Amino acid sequence: MATGTLSIDLDALVSNWRALNEMSAPGTETGAVIKADGYGLGVARVAMALARVGVRRFFVATAEEGAAVREVLGREPRIHVFSGHMAGDTDMIGDLDLIPMLNSIEQLTRHFEALPGAAFGIQLDTGMNRLGLEPAEWAAVAPLALGQGPALIMSHLASADEPESPQNADQLRVFREMTDEAGVPRSLSATGGILLGADYHFDVTRPGIGLYGGRPFADARPVARLALPVVQARTVTPGEAVGYNATWMAPEERLIATVSGGYADGLLRSLSNAGALYADGVACPLVGRVSMDLITVDITALGYVPGSLDILCPEQTVDDLADAAGTIGYEVLTSLGARYRRSSIGGSLS
Ligand SMILES: *Cc1c(COP(=O)(O)O)cnc(C)c1O
Repeated sequence: MATGTLSIDLDALVSNWRALNEMSAPGTETGAVIKADGYGLGVARVAMALARVGVRRFFVATAEEGAAVREVLGREPRIHVFSGHMAGDTDMIGDLDLIPMLNSIEQLTRHFEALPGAAFGIQLDTGMNRLGLEPAEWAAVAPLALGQGPALIMSHLASADEPESPQNADQLRVFREMTDEAGVPRSLSATGGILLGADYHFDVTRPGIGLYGGRPFADARPVARLALPVVQARTVTPGEAVGYNATWMAPEERLIATVSGGYADGLLRSLSNAGALYADGVACPLVGRVSMDLITVDITALGYVPGSLDILCPEQTVDDLADAAGTIGYEVLTSLGARYRRSSIGGSLS
């Protein structure tokens, strides 16, 4: 087996969704964000496991992603598309009954002209300045848009993972000012917003990263485990260097394992001489540069050559690895490469 094995724990995924659902205010529906191939873990298995435990509303980034979810889940669940109604998406949106979250007056016009009577939602900008209608634009088109019966009105918090940030309350206030009179279901919170408390929950929440075991949901169960096979091992003597550009030198005799997996598999090059892999609970530091298909690991502390080493495991979560790489868990997950053998455990009805 030349490539690593990525195992997805669907029971942990489901348990994270249930935990976030229980945190949500009574009467709030908890959806699920499964964009970017289910945060890199495989949208089909993620969507099916969540649908099986009662998730009825999914969010994706693009209409193409929505089409993939519709194919897997059938006609029942609602599928919201964050990028709205883009030019060229009309057939997919109409045929597959996707709900575009319309972001601009241009998109509103396109949708009402191309698919009159078809479902839609509205995305409002409350201060992030990324997607959505600004307050003045909304004021101008709200009567017309509300007359068409939007399925959902949403906005997105820019700093929800920083509970002390005054931007949270500012965005909440703006969202309320823009929507309190609308009489339409509302959604403001992703994972971080759920943790901010009931004021932020409204009718529908949209957790993503927390489902997949990442911060800011500190109590999340880890979902991804990644084991990488050892290709060969060697003993290096004091002063010998390992890897491209000789960035690591053995201070004394060391046992080095060469492990299958590199930056082409999403093991970020910033992990060079940082982070660790694990076998039997023992931390083995990654030494030298990460190369395209391989990494080198100091397994001296282990005292034997294992068949494989874990880079995502209970000892090293997605966030631990992200910290070592200088990034965030979202990037670690969505970088996971196509070469891994993927398997899932759990996920049956319970
Ligand atoms: C990605 C995304 C989410 C999910 O955010 P998490 O932080 O992963 O929970 C929710 N809403 C929008 C608009 C998003 O882009």
